[in-house]
Amino acid sequence: MAKSLGILLTGRIASGVIEGQTPCSSIHHFPDNFDDTDSLLDMPLDGLIELVCEQSTRAVAECGPVQSVGLALPGIVRDGVVEDSPNLVQLKGARIAERMRQTLGKSGISAPVTVLNDADAIAAGVAAKHDRLDSFIRIWALGYGIGFGRYPFTAGIWEGGHAVVTLEAGETFCGCGGRGHLEGIMGYRAMRLRFLDMEPEEVFANAKTGDKRCNEFVRLWHRSLAAATSNSIHMEGPGRFYYTGTNIHFLDLKLLQQYLQQMVKMSPLQSYSLEIVPMSDDLVVSGVAIAATQAVKT
Ligand SMILES: [Zn+2]
Repeated sequence: MAKSLGILLTGRIASGVIEGQTPCSSIHHFPDNFDDTDSLLDMPLDGLIELVCEQSTRAVAECGPVQSVGLALPGIVRDGVVEDSPNLVQLKGARIAERMRQTLGKSGISAPVTVLNDADAIAAGVAAKHDRLDSFIRIWALGYGIGFGRYPFTAGIWEGGHAVVTLEAGETFCGCGGRGHLEGIMGYRAMRLRFLDMEPEEVFANAKTGDKRCNEFVRLWHRSLAAATSNSIHMEGPGRFYYTGTNIHFLDLKLLQQYLQQMVKMSPLQSYSLEIVPMSDDLVVSGVAIAATQAVKT
């Protein structure tokens, strides 16, 4: 069965080799400390590519050779080029697929490289895990930024995290600089900018104990996600939505559902379903490896 190297590059690196749909190497992480999510953000591009390749060779050494390589990263990716990446700015403009192919080649890993937005990779991982590789699913990834992913992969921009969900002039916290964006309300970075006096975890904890300002924000947070989900339903129809990401513990699915019911009223659009999936690097590594295998076949 075809083997594929899957790599996740966000605030950290994870890599592993997948055979079919099953990991055949262990999943390697960098840095080892999961709380360290900032160390890659300021690293120059050349050093970052070297580091990603160096990490990935460890997985291939365990159960290579591989026939394809998949790289998942945050941002707008087209034909192997990163057109923009507000949360890993050094990647902007990089011909990342070609650079990765060349650098991996020096370590004896010779295979085509497919680059995907990390949320699309999560969607592929979720589809495989839930045995839905033959159906259309959408995912929201709630983390440092807000990702929107689809499976199967369809050419397009799909920057759902930057959907406008409010017309309030003061909503300027999105990393991309755009006003009124979903990520400017829900993203971890944006929440820190909004509440300079407390961490997002404290905001959600204080909301539970009745703090008015925190409670209002938690409601806005859920209403915003309902608005973005509702917009997606009105554009592309109902279906299955999965919610995941490092901040998935903030999500109250019942509250989200309640707001969504207020926003989606046309009966043919009400057959949607919402489900939480715990986030793991393994899910993304598997997803991007599966997508890379499919890309090589077509
Ligand atoms: Zn934005």
